[in-house]
Amino acid sequence: MEHLKLATLLSAEQIQERVTALGKELNDKFLGESVVAVCILKGSIVFYSDLIRAIEMDIACDYIGASSYKGGTKSTGEVKLTLDLSYSVQDKHILLVEDIVDSGITLNYLHQMLGARNPKSISTVALLSKPDALKVDVKVDHVGFEIGNEFVVGYGLDYQGYYRNLPHISQVENLN
Ligand code: 5GP
Repeated sequence: MEHLKLATLLSAEQIQERVTALGKELNDKFLGESVVAVCILKGSIVFYSDLIRAIEMDIACDYIGASSYKGGTKSTGEVKLTLDLSYSVQDKHILLVEDIVDSGITLNYLHQMLGARNPKSISTVALLSKPDALKVDVKVDHVGFEIGNEFVVGYGLDYQGYYRNLPHISQVENLN
């Protein structure tokens, strides 16, 4: 495994505090509604598992797989669906849970694809957003933290499959 030089950007405590606040926002927003929380695999797994436990109402959980990075650090700009949902989302409120919005191409693609399945609504939540990297016009309704264009790992985010298990988020300092 290639050892990367990492510098902590967000501590585990900062992340937990923000995820708890996002859970509260979502509780208030969806009170009394029927919601399907969709985890976008694979990077969102850690954020998703903390976020759903910060949401107090009944929600259905489902998973969708999308890939655009091929394990490197640059998006291919092309999204590949690697896993589809298990259940119908027709007439349901969808909460799309993304780890990080970079170009926005992945979220935009999934938003359009799921929108064609006649849900009641689609809301989006991302732990991280890189506003300067956006290439498409996609609205993220709830954002944990805005960051710069640096490549980050940890808390579910990987580099070639590694670093997902870090409890904090680090910036990679020795990638070009
Ligand atoms: P987008 O389609 O918005 O360009 O990219 C979305 C996906 O690319 C994210 O779900 C994530 O998996 C990956 N990605 C974007 N930026 C980073 C980053 O800084 N670090 C890591 N590890 N993955 C990223």
